[in-house]
Amino acid sequence: VARCPRLTKIRGPQIRNLLEAKDFILFDCDGVIWHGETAITGAAKVVSSLIRHGKNVVFVTNNCTRPRENYVHKFYRLGFTDVMLEQIFSSSYCSALYLRDVVKIRGQVFVMGCDGLRRELQGGGRPLRGGGGRDVKAVLVGHDDKLTFLKLAKASCYLRDPDCLFLATDNDPWHPLSGGRILPGSGSLTAALEVSSGRKATVIGKPSRFMFECISSQFSGVEPAQCLMIGDRLETDMLFGSNCGFDTMLTLTGVSQLEEAQEYRDSELAANHSLVPDYVVDSIADFLPAFEE
Ligand code: PLP
Ligand code: CA
Repeated sequence: VARCPRLTKIRGPQIRNLLEAKDFILFDCDGVIWHGETAITGAAKVVSSLIRHGKNVVFVTNNCTRPRENYVHKFYRLGFTDVMLEQIFSSSYCSALYLRDVVKIRGQVFVMGCDGLRRELQGGGRPLRGGGGRDVKAVLVGHDDKLTFLKLAKASCYLRDPDCLFLATDNDPWHPLSGGRILPGSGSLTAALEVSSGRKATVIGKPSRFMFECISSQFSGVEPAQCLMIGDRLETDMLFGSNCGFDTMLTLTGVSQLEEAQEYRDSELAANHSLVPDYVVDSIADFLPAFEE
């Protein structure tokens, strides 16, 4: 078995050296920066210190339920007072860019998702409609808290047309809530439509490289070697980082455990090695000593 020479738990001066070597720091949000409505202790200070030290900081979240404006408010509310709209790349925003700039959609998009996703699609004066009808050229599936059987049935019908695109904001299977409960993710709805249509959705969010294309189209001179992706989920964040050629860091404040990363590392399946982080920290609060003079 070829073992990956990675998965290094780092602290203190090693974190400092790593941060000095990187110009772009990409943060996943839930499980890294906050848990739902509670900021992770020390995270706001880490983010503002990085910005003050001249780092480009961006946030890559698979949460498609809000438009970017709402994220700016959420960051502010949780004490991240220097985060701006331009730093936020959500799966809803990137889906809007994909529809507008990549497939240049004309006609309607049938959206299975929250109002926030619909608002993001309609933002910026883009001629996108979130309804359904005879002229449906794409089905976009995301987290839908008002899911009905009728919506699934309609989407399944639209997908019978091979010219109708099948897109998913993200493919996350589930999300943790407090007290050990979970919420089914967009991936569970995508799976239902994949079965009913016999088709595979194109995923916009992590681990797809498309989110990096969105970032590099808006920040000039982003080199993968200059990027560090920090996340809490191996199957989305670490795979995204390795798909993009970044160094990756797992923080243990979220979904994935160190033991799962070790299992992927020791797996005989070479594809599993792309899910293994380069570095591991207990929390991004471990960065704080790196900013002390
Ligand atoms: N989608 C939804 C609906 C969520 O509630 C969450 C996490 O709370 C996510 C996606 C994952 O977000 P992130 O990529 O920031 O971890
Ligand atoms: Ca996360």
